[in-house]
Amino acid sequence: MKIFCVGRNYAEHAKELGNEIPEEPVIFMKPKSALLQANTPFYYPEFSNELHYEVELVLRISKNGKYIQEQQADKYYDAISVGIDFTARDIQAELKKKGLPWEKAKAWDNSAILGKWIELNPTILNHPIHFSLLQNGNIVQSGDSTHMIFSFNKIIANISNYFSLNIGDLIYTGTPSGVGECVTGDLLEGYLEKEKMFDLIIK
Ligand code: ZN
Repeated sequence: MKIFCVGRNYAEHAKELGNEIPEEPVIFMKPKSALLQANTPFYYPEFSNELHYEVELVLRISKNGKYIQEQQADKYYDAISVGIDFTARDIQAELKKKGLPWEKAKAWDNSAILGKWIELNPTILNHPIHFSLLQNGNIVQSGDSTHMIFSFNKIIANISNYFSLNIGDLIYTGTPSGVGECVTGDLLEGYLEKEKMFDLIIK
């Protein structure tokens, strides 16, 4: 199983971190060990002093493919969820400054949080999909799939030019603006529309 993540897929978020709007999807990966397993506590990583949440829509790949056409891409995913791409922002800032890869900031153990799955159907896909993150009961991020720079289908077509997609792979489709710091004891809750997808306490 592979975990793909899209960086800078919402203009407002690219701006808030001082990045340019990309001309093609920015893709990075997390290993399987990055996925927090169910009923496992999440611990603040000891190597960071600036842990950021990034709430994202997550797609589940349901068909193997390579060189997928954008027009065909919706046949390759069957479910959606909401997750967190946890980022050690202090580490990432250091790495970015030196032009080094991001893995130590993004791909560490348990840095990918995944909620429950909602099966997709054309009705869901033909409407804006709203999602949000609450920190200790306050909305800190809210997004809408129609504000993505690269749509689900564009992302899949682009990834598949470089990597085979396989059943069970995950795609974190990017975070809207409002990313911010979290601390030990915080309660984070992810929502898809009005449905709670996950909750998590930072230990
Ligand atoms: Zn992200």
